[in-house]
Amino acid sequence: MAFVTLATTDSYCMGATVVARSLRRHGTTRGIVVMVTPNVSQQSRLALESVFDEVIMVDVMDSEDRLHLALLGRPELGITFTKIHCWTLTQYSKCVFLDADTLVLCNVDELFERDELSAAPDPGWPDCFNSGVFVLRPSLHTHTGLMDHALQHGSFDGNARLHYVSQGRLEIVHFLGPVKPWSSSSQRDDGSSHATEQFATLWWKEYLSHTTPLVCYSPSSPGQRAADGESEQ
Ligand code: UDP
Ligand code: MN
Repeated sequence: MAFVTLATTDSYCMGATVVARSLRRHGTTRGIVVMVTPNVSQQSRLALESVFDEVIMVDVMDSEDRLHLALLGRPELGITFTKIHCWTLTQYSKCVFLDADTLVLCNVDELFERDELSAAPDPGWPDCFNSGVFVLRPSLHTHTGLMDHALQHGSFDGNARLHYVSQGRLEIVHFLGPVKPWSSSSQRDDGSSHATEQFATLWWKEYLSHTTPLVCYSPSSPGQRAADGESEQ
């Protein structure tokens, strides 16, 4: 089982870095993988390799010809299709997908106890789920089904949204919308709320931090691990 995110540009790689660091800061025991596209710079890819367990290269345009042709006429579906690629990660029995513009605030490993497909409602479209965080079971069968569905019906806003209702909790912040924490400050000054600013500050702290564990364990203090509530693994 693994957390999965996606970065198709160097800017989104900044976001992906924060996803991985915040997951590690809160002591995840799961794998953390990122899907990247070939246009991501080598420098960004190397940076991702230092914080992710696996960096997986994906390229939707390398798929079968039918898909290639269909995508040429529907360029807006490109990113959506790349996200759907997480269903091909069949080396994992279950994944939790996190958008690269999310920040994890506490240990969220219990999300793996939920089944496909679990997600939170979209704030703007309450009868749809927000595709920023969801639980999935990788399956080539489901992948093909989703690709066919997206090609036939498209997406009403260019994002991979599907109808679903579930519950949400404030354990993960999702900076959805065109302005991201890594956007230039002139973009961010346009009336973002105090709470958003505070979370953006937290995001920058995570981005600029080095991946240091919260507690340093030493062999001379064997009780430390249990005292910190970490599971023995
Ligand atoms: N994404 C990406 N490159 C892009 C746009 C999006 O890699 O140019 C990925 C990234 O993981 C991002 C997700 O697709 O978090 C969804 O896009 P975004 O978060 O910008 O959409 P929003 O959540 O604001 O609707
Ligand atoms: Mn997002």
